[in-house]
Amino acid sequence: MSRRAVVVGAGLAGMLAAAVLANAGVAEVVVLDRDELPDGPRQRRGLPQGRHAHLLMPGGLTAMEEIVPGASLRGRLLAAGAHEVSLGSGMLARSPEGWLRRWRRPGPVMLTCTRALVDWTVRAAVLEQTAVEVRRASVVGLTGSSGRVRGVRVSGPGGEEDLDADLVVDASGRGTRIIPWLDGLGLSGVRTRTVDSGLVNASRVYRVPAGAERFPLTVVHADPYVSRPGRSAMVMPIEGDRWLVSCGGTRGGEPPADPEGFLRYTLGLPDPIVGRLISGAEPLTDVHLSRSTSNVRHYLDKVRDWPEGLVVLGDALGTFNPAYGQGMSVAAFGARVLGQELDRAGGLDAPGLARRVLRGAARPVDAAWAMAVGQDVLYPGTRGGGRPGIADRAATAYTRRMTRAATGSLAAASAIWDVTSMRTPPTRLFHPSAVLAALAGPPLPLLTGPPLTPGEREVLDGLDRTGA
Ligand SMILES: Cc1cc2nc3c(=O)[nH]c(=O)nc-3n(C[C@H](O)[C@H](O)[C@H](O)COP(=O)(O)OP(=O)(O)OC[C@H]3O[C@@H](n4cnc5c(N)ncnc54)[C@H](O)[C@@H]3O)c2cc1C
Repeated sequence: MSRRAVVVGAGLAGMLAAAVLANAGVAEVVVLDRDELPDGPRQRRGLPQGRHAHLLMPGGLTAMEEIVPGASLRGRLLAAGAHEVSLGSGMLARSPEGWLRRWRRPGPVMLTCTRALVDWTVRAAVLEQTAVEVRRASVVGLTGSSGRVRGVRVSGPGGEEDLDADLVVDASGRGTRIIPWLDGLGLSGVRTRTVDSGLVNASRVYRVPAGAERFPLTVVHADPYVSRPGRSAMVMPIEGDRWLVSCGGTRGGEPPADPEGFLRYTLGLPDPIVGRLISGAEPLTDVHLSRSTSNVRHYLDKVRDWPEGLVVLGDALGTFNPAYGQGMSVAAFGARVLGQELDRAGGLDAPGLARRVLRGAARPVDAAWAMAVGQDVLYPGTRGGGRPGIADRAATAYTRRMTRAATGSLAAASAIWDVTSMRTPPTRLFHPSAVLAALAGPPLPLLTGPPLTPGEREVLDGLDRTGA
């Protein structure tokens, strides 16, 4: 196959797209990132979201392993200290409808570790297995015309220069400049939708207290059904015997950055379990705050005359409230679509290739968007959501009913795990067994507290310095 592809951004979408291009036989694949990329699992400036909890769903990990076969990404992550958490039995999760049970059936298994570890593991595996080249450079525009993109303009120490390419992949994340870049080529009028719940994330790392090494991932979800700001918190095990504790609050319910306020915030949730756990744990960092978490969708796939030679993947195509842990998986699905379309086309020059990739990559973005935005529009103060229509209200009522059923029905819980794990599309929730479970409601009574084992209760009571 042919000549040069340039990928903008060495995050997950970028490195996975680069692997796909190299595996498809593109002679030269150059990834450009404006960041200095660390030689290890370390937080970096270009990924500010990396300070917050990132769940790697099994559907996304499978896609990554398909893209980088033979690297055993799962094995590498586990060897570096990532944790396996079963959605069915390994979590303490308080949903808006009450505590979820822990079933004997483990269900799908997700991985938890720092975002920096996921990023570095994928980047290292791609660089080991392919001839992809990563260069430090900031992309400032596209070259070519509105009919065909011919490369990128980069800004470096010596000024600006052009780098030609047969295909450009924009994987520059939520801060993408794709709209002004397209404008610069004379292509304007792309529709962008922003739904902003004012979500603020606050995170802090703690040392796992002695004896609490096996304490399950614990999460108190936000409740979108009570006309109050959403507030949530999670204690997630990460590599290095640490807990990453992340809180999220929508407009009016934002978590604070001061340590005392952070603890108070967790204790003020509908269940104080997160605060009780961390009240006796040693903090290892300050509280880090991020504000740029609105849902943004660029409808590039709807542009009638999309230029040849330009593909947009990952967060650059759409970002959404991270509550469902979907973004990394969606980035992997987009790269997988690029690979499938390259296989079909047999070359970078095939007419319509870029458009077909965009359309395929937009499908998982839209599914994730629907889940995230469907909840975000219910929070007071959300901007850009519009008033929920009849279909939105029906979907909300059904999701709520399904969640309630999942508090005491294995069939309902399984349907939710399958969708959350990103192994199946959301249509799984309308499988007859799921619909029946939702309609029947929970056959088991609602739990009055977290489903702790006696040993876990002892750990929690031992850590608690709040007297709650
Ligand atoms: C608070 C929070 C929590 C999240 N939790 C989860 C979770 O639990 N699970 C999950 O799956 N997802 C989660 N996400 C989403 C996830 O972080 C993103 O979906 C994912 O990072 C998208 O990857 P990407 O490669 O598209 O973009 P990014 O990872 O953001 O990478 C973009 C890259 O482009 C580079 N770049 C940007 N502009 C330029 C330029 N002009 N020139 C050169 N380089 C450039 C940057 O330096 C960066 O390296 C969360 C997001 C947030 C904000």
